[in-house]
Amino acid sequence: MTFLAALNPKQREAVEHDGRALLVIAGAGSGKTRVVVSRIAHLVVARDVDPSSILGVTFTNKAAGEMRERVVGLLRKHGWPGSRTPTLSTFHSFCARLLRIHGGRLEEIRPGFGTDFVILDEADQLAVVKDAVRQVGPAAQSLKPKKILSALGRWKNSNGRSSPLHGRNTKETLALQSVFELYRTALLAANALDFDDLLLETVRLLKHSDDLRALLRVRYRHVLVDEFQDTNPPQYRIMRLLVGRSGNVCAVGDEDQAIYSWRGADISNILGFETDFPATRVIRLEQNYRSTRSILRASSAVVAHNRNRRKKELWSAGPEGDLPVVLRAENALAEARFVVQEIGNLLDRDPDITVGVLYRTNAQSRLFEEELRRAGHRFLVVGGVAFYQRAEVKDLLAYLRAAMSEQDSVSLRRILNVPARGIGKATLERLLELASKEEVSLWQAIGEVVERRLLGTRAQAALAGFRLLMKRLRERLDRDKPDELIDWILRETGYGSMLEADRSGRGPSRLENVRELLSAAREVDERGDSLQDLLDHAALVADSDGIDRSARVLLLTLHNAKGLEFSAVAMVGMEEKLLPHQRSLDAGEGAVEEERRLCYVGMTRARQHLLMSCAASRRLYGGGEALEMRPSRFLREIPADLIDDRLVKSSWYGSGRRPDAGVPLRRHRRPNPVATSGVQTHDSVSAVAAFFQDRGISPGSMSGHSPSPEASSSSVARRPLRQGGSGPNLGQAVKQLRRQGRFPPGSRVRHPKYGLGRVQRRDGEGDRAKLSVYFSRYGLKRLVAGYARLEEV
Ligand code: ATP
Ligand code: MG
Repeated sequence: MTFLAALNPKQREAVEHDGRALLVIAGAGSGKTRVVVSRIAHLVVARDVDPSSILGVTFTNKAAGEMRERVVGLLRKHGWPGSRTPTLSTFHSFCARLLRIHGGRLEEIRPGFGTDFVILDEADQLAVVKDAVRQVGPAAQSLKPKKILSALGRWKNSNGRSSPLHGRNTKETLALQSVFELYRTALLAANALDFDDLLLETVRLLKHSDDLRALLRVRYRHVLVDEFQDTNPPQYRIMRLLVGRSGNVCAVGDEDQAIYSWRGADISNILGFETDFPATRVIRLEQNYRSTRSILRASSAVVAHNRNRRKKELWSAGPEGDLPVVLRAENALAEARFVVQEIGNLLDRDPDITVGVLYRTNAQSRLFEEELRRAGHRFLVVGGVAFYQRAEVKDLLAYLRAAMSEQDSVSLRRILNVPARGIGKATLERLLELASKEEVSLWQAIGEVVERRLLGTRAQAALAGFRLLMKRLRERLDRDKPDELIDWILRETGYGSMLEADRSGRGPSRLENVRELLSAAREVDERGDSLQDLLDHAALVADSDGIDRSARVLLLTLHNAKGLEFSAVAMVGMEEKLLPHQRSLDAGEGAVEEERRLCYVGMTRARQHLLMSCAASRRLYGGGEALEMRPSRFLREIPADLIDDRLVKSSWYGSGRRPDAGVPLRRHRRPNPVATSGVQTHDSVSAVAAFFQDRGISPGSMSGHSPSPEASSSSVARRPLRQGGSGPNLGQAVKQLRRQGRFPPGSRVRHPKYGLGRVQRRDGEGDRAKLSVYFSRYGLKRLVAGYARLEEV
């Protein structure tokens, strides 16, 4: 069998194992999925097993689809003629199918159940919970519906083991129980099942019906489960009920990659497996085929910090590879720019590689999308809509556009009744008709209708109200900053409350997007750009040309990256509060260990190149001022000699200077929270020397050159300044910089609000020069020299 030849002895043993239960526990990239796929092919081709008697289960629909493709590919390659294929699916879709076909038996114990049940998704569930909360009254209203829902899910999935819903006091607990009851009754009445019910009702059905169990055990002689570490208790029970004690089951997993305990997954399944299936053969795979040795060492060093794990060592016969690079930038924008620049370098060298940009939360994708677009790289945001195409972002920008231009009927139409304000379809049709007849814009048509009282009272009032609202917005255009305008729109149009009251369950992520838009608007202002610049930028980048299925660069969350691999991986935003996420920091060590596993999952997606980056300041979740950020503890857990640690300065950006272009970067000793928590200020003589050294400039050598007055720090950085000079001559160097005009790069300044800062970059001359100033407490600000009330110190 050629597919056996493509396996190592341990893998082959797993594929050929012909006994009872088999458990393959192995680290990332060791070929677990390859074992599952090859085992299925082997059963069919070499052992003559009917494909339809094989059930393969995995975690996501995407993974199931990929598995199907690979199995069918292997079977075809080996001349398998049959049209029958194995069942390869997720637990949820397997259960849904089972209940549709055999669920009739459930009616005996669950009156009212019919196989024509409807499946509720999270949005529907939330709507039911909110209704229930309303019915129960004030005692339940102190709790967020989403929280109730996840408590409900946890309780259901733990098979009743986790304590039922706990409130802060008895009254609240009772109220929660009532909500729970009402929820259950509502679903029963509607013959509806939520995702958890699909699993739980399958368990009930299988336990209840001996003949069905027997039937299925004959039907599915071989059950294989990939990503076993993330199965939850009901899924595990289903597996056991299907297999029976004597059955053929093969589970493959890696406890170090368990990242779904928040959804009830339970690593103890791995521990219970050997007890539940006597005579289990356990195979451990230790050779990693995916990553270079350097990547493997660094990722192993991180996960080794988890206490709650079985120790295992992975090795690789692959190439040593480059050290994983850690890029530390002074702020989130600089981080995105340098990461994208590094990606560009890699793509220049080999245009066929795939690159994964992995982040903890969806909102982090924006800066990377923008920078990738600016650099002309094709990319694809996986599992999400590109930032400026998200509905709420488009809506808010449409308000601004409609206010900026009376002619922009497209934007106006988009927001005419968003949020709903009683301007219905009939009114819109009337307006459009009038606009077309009189050849006026939609805005003018609104004016006509309102002034000539062409509509019924209610529609008339709604339109008049909207017109006034837009007029008020228009009046603010010259006065308010872009972010203040957006804030105003959120408040005054009811858009903000609409999102807060969003019943679809997407409310929080939509709010996060809005906050991110506020951040973008603030940045625009700080760069000295206008509202129009923001709108143009958004319009240009919203162009879907930038999104391309053949893109080499994929943007996705760490959770979505599970099981995938890329030639190069950039793990971005590796900062405390992002990874580990703030929620896990609040929840305790167990939760932090899960974040560490998530970090491990991310690092081990990389084949040849791994880049990890962090910023010293960023606006977290769009919050007002930039916060000082600390590098993730996971970065600090990697021994210094296993990474290539680089500090990049935004003043280099656009200078053509690349962190890897032979510039002698100051290698930082093992990063520690103090040294890396912010970009250093350069107060002392030695620190000033370090400042120049960071930029690859020998300060003493500067005296021999006289940069033109408008020279920015970037041109200074580019100059070959290393040949002359004999040691630092700081006085002359600083004088040299001073000659460049007011606030030359490198000079220290004081701002009435931001305090002391250092000029990083200066574009243009005189009062109109735009300065990038780094303030240790506020991060990088873009200021216009003439207006910024700066004084040199
Ligand atoms: P993960 O833990 O991330 O799910 P995994 O253990 O399932 O990883 P696979 O995805 O099956 O690992 O394999 C990782 C990579 O190594 C794949 O590119 C696969 O083709 C390759 N690989 C696995 N086994 C071998 C082998 N024996 N020879 C060559 N390449 C292999
Ligand atoms: Mg896998």
